[in-house]
This record gives sequence, structure tokens and C-alpha cells, in this order.
Amino acid sequence: MNIVMMGAQGTGKGTVAGILKGELNIPHISTGDIFRKNIKEGTELGKIATKYADEGKLVPDEVTNAMVKSRINEPDCENGFILDGYPRNIAQAEELDKILEEKGTKLDLVAYLKTPTEEIIERVMARRECPKCKRVYNMVLNKPKNGEICDDCGVELTKRVDDTEEKLKTRLEIFFNETEPVIKYYKEKGIVKEEEISISINRLAPEAAKDLIDSMRK
Ligand SMILES: [Zn+2]
Repeated sequence: MNIVMMGAQGTGKGTVAGILKGELNIPHISTGDIFRKNIKEGTELGKIATKYADEGKLVPDEVTNAMVKSRINEPDCENGFILDGYPRNIAQAEELDKILEEKGTKLDLVAYLKTPTEEIIERVMARRECPKCKRVYNMVLNKPKNGEICDDCGVELTKRVDDTEEKLKTRLEIFFNETEPVIKYYKEKGIVKEEEISISINRLAPEAAKDLIDSMRK
């Protein structure tokens, strides 16, 4: 089962991916992880990516595509994968089709997780982190036992510097602008399954994951 997972931050994508990974026994591949691995292992692609990052430039599609291709061709992807953070544009989506075609397979499902923007903002703003052990809490969905104190360390939790409402709104806008054409591309292929994740309809990440798994087993 070859899956692409799309969804803005704060939709519960990590939780859904974790459940799918466990149930379907396929790896969860995030582009962030692939980048970090290539850079850490000092691969040729990692070196090129570092060079761009150091110059404050976006890593070109060719580099990202090559990293994804190499990762997808590893043995643990024999029965499929959950790709997260890729493709980000039509050119990458077309490249992914090519990579899979060469492998004699195709994309089975694009899981698109949707949460109302107001709710995303509320959730992300409610996020707290332990400065000592880095455990992440959410004052709405996953509260610590006492006030804003880490259950493990007894240390006062902090907000991440990146989590200001203004920065978040900008990130979300970029995400939706980027995602729209890619979703359209996949809708034309008829492989998109949209999942609403929202407290307002009492439907959270685990229910969405269950629904996706049921739809794949049909
Ligand atoms: Zn802690």
C-alpha cells in the first residue's frame, strides 16, 4: 500500500501516520527525516542539500526527488510506505509517479487530513514543551497532570518560539497554497480520501486513521 499523507500542522497527522504504520506494517517516511539522515550520513545528496541550506536557499526539486527515490527503493518499502511532506508541487508529484512506475507499482491512496483553521490555531497555541526532556503536551488535547508542569521532570513547560499566531497563519497559508494544486492533481486520478479531523464533530485522529484503514481493506 503506497500512501501519500497530506495535512497542515496541527491536524493530527503524526498520530494518524503512527496508527497506519502499526496497522499496515509499512514505514512512515517524512521528508524532514530523509534530509536529516542524508546530512548526518554525509551522502552526496546530503552535502548538496547542506550547501543550499547554508546559503539560505530552497533545496531544488531534483535533490529532494533523488533522496525520496533512494529511500523508497530501500527494502523496508517492499510492501509500501507512508510518505509525509512530499510531493509539495506538481513537478514532484509527476516525479513520484515516474519513480513508482519504474518500480512497477503506483500510488494507492492520498490521505488528506482536514481541520478547520481556527481549530488548528487553537491546538497549536495550546502546545507546550518541557525544556528539559522535550516532551510535548497540549493544554487542550493532552494536558499534564498538574497545571503546566512536566509529568516526568516537574519542570515548568514552555511555548515554542515558532508557535506565534502570526507565524502559524503564514505557515498555514503557504501550506494551503502549495497543497491545493497537488490535491487537484490526485483528485483527477481519483485516489484522494479526505478525512475531517475536528473536535466540533467529535472526530479525532484515531477515528480518521481507522476509517482510512477500513477503506483500504475493502
Ligand atoms: Zn520533562
